[in-house]
Amino acid sequence: MGHFLRPRTMPASSPTTFGPLTWALLIAVAALVAGVAWALRGRLRSAPSPRRADHGTIDPVTGLMSRAAFEVALAQALDTERGEGRSGGLLYVGLDGFRLVNEGHGHAQGDKVLVATAGTLRQVCGERVPMCRCAGDEFAIWLNADTSACELLARRVAEALAGGVELDGQRFTAGASIGLALFPRHGTSAQLVLRAATAMRAVKRAGGGTHALFDPRIETEQREELKIAQDLRLAVSRKELELVYQPKIEAASLQVTAVEALLRWKHPQLGMVSPTRFIPIAEKHGLIEAIGNWVLEAALTQAAVWRKAGLRMRVAINVSGFQMRQDDFAKRLQSGLRAHGLQPNRFTCEITESVAMEDTQVTRSAFDRLRELGVHVSIDDFGTGHSSLATLRRLPAQEIKIDRAFVADMATDADAKAIVAAVLTMARALGLRVVAEGVETPAQRDLLVQMGCDELQGYLFAKPMSARAIALWAMDAPTSLAQTFSPSLFKDTAITDARSTEIMPSRPASLPR
Ligand code: C2E
Ligand code: CA
Ligand code: CA
Repeated sequence: MGHFLRPRTMPASSPTTFGPLTWALLIAVAALVAGVAWALRGRLRSAPSPRRADHGTIDPVTGLMSRAAFEVALAQALDTERGEGRSGGLLYVGLDGFRLVNEGHGHAQGDKVLVATAGTLRQVCGERVPMCRCAGDEFAIWLNADTSACELLARRVAEALAGGVELDGQRFTAGASIGLALFPRHGTSAQLVLRAATAMRAVKRAGGGTHALFDPRIETEQREELKIAQDLRLAVSRKELELVYQPKIEAASLQVTAVEALLRWKHPQLGMVSPTRFIPIAEKHGLIEAIGNWVLEAALTQAAVWRKAGLRMRVAINVSGFQMRQDDFAKRLQSGLRAHGLQPNRFTCEITESVAMEDTQVTRSAFDRLRELGVHVSIDDFGTGHSSLATLRRLPAQEIKIDRAFVADMATDADAKAIVAAVLTMARALGLRVVAEGVETPAQRDLLVQMGCDELQGYLFAKPMSARAIALWAMDAPTSLAQTFSPSLFKDTAITDARSTEIMPSRPASLPR
């Protein structure tokens, strides 16, 4: 640790040398930490596998400095008067896709990847740049240099790890995400590590593979997120959640075949909070189960009410990946359907393409249970994921929803139109119905109908609305939309088998002829 904060390989704008007193202090700190490490050795040896960096001076997996030793030395160098006038950057490196190495190849292979990564980092940064393994697949590097040199190093690290780690001719991990926090701009040594880690996580969320400087706005967002999570915890009991419904219209007849339930949150201070904002927070903070269960019960209740009133369209809910991984989701759905006297094939679960394509044991068995149950399955946001035809064939899906980004672009962008055409061809081959979502203009509608799309959904026909408004809209629809609506407004679509769709029209008893 004697060379801490004294880079040799990267160009430093203000290279710093330490006096004898500084060295003596740093060595004393190292000795203290080493003492603690010695005391912990017995325990660490008996631990089954060191998954985290230990509390001694050396990380037992990679041989790099441990996080504790790194932080102590960093604090000694920056947070005392010796830190005055110094500038530098803390790089926080997180491997992309490391979880899959551990899960798919075992922890021993995971450890090998960590060792190889440490070797690459040493190679890029040089022997004397201080670095540690912080936890799991995360590393911290300190560079005593100006901002541009720190950014250059971050770029070099990202490039060096971009192709993944090669071991015995096989490639593992998918690159790295790097956060950079600067001293003194971004705070004390402890804040630097946290803020560089925050920047790294922001890079990861955006897809990884690159580096980014810490942005204080991320912390503001995090505070807001925490507030939303706290309030969301109470939203169900305070009755602040509500479902709105948006119709799906059959292209050929312009009849309503189904409605999609979309969640709304009426926050007492923030007003309407969008599900795109709060669903990911609910997933992250362990609240999606309670919210998903509420949505399921509310949609089933409404579906039963409509059935009794003679409105015989299918009701769809959006099922998040977390719900699909829940053990009892299908069971809950089954007992809910039974309790409300609804047939499974009149109820749709919309599952995004990315979740459907995960193809893990958990999602596969969740799909199997939905198949056994006989509910209608729709693959949402289609075109945004990386579907393989083989996986799609295996899924018990009856419907594909073309993502609205393609619908929005298809009139002006040949690629988007080609994708829509390809999806329609593939769906036809697999016997799936195709719904186009986000239809906003007559030009889009006409093109989709001409291309053979089965159902349409979007603001052109109706915005999402309350259950009451749906019934009123339905009665008004013939005059406000098209004359073709009048003979039979709501069309019942009953799926007799997983791959064939048999349309059984019926009239709503409570609606005027
Ligand atoms: P999604 O499932 O793709 O839902 C379609 C979204 O597009 C809805 O936004 C809908 O209001 C909007 N939309 C419909 N027609 C048009 C159109 O013509 N133009 C445009 N620009 N937008 C249109 P919303 O309601 O804000 O929902 C956003 C997303 O939130 C949904 O995307 C879904 O992924 C998620 N979500 C909504 N409700 C739930 C729920 O109950 N559970 C879960 N897990 N996710 C939900
Ligand atoms: Ca949906
Ligand atoms: Ca969608």
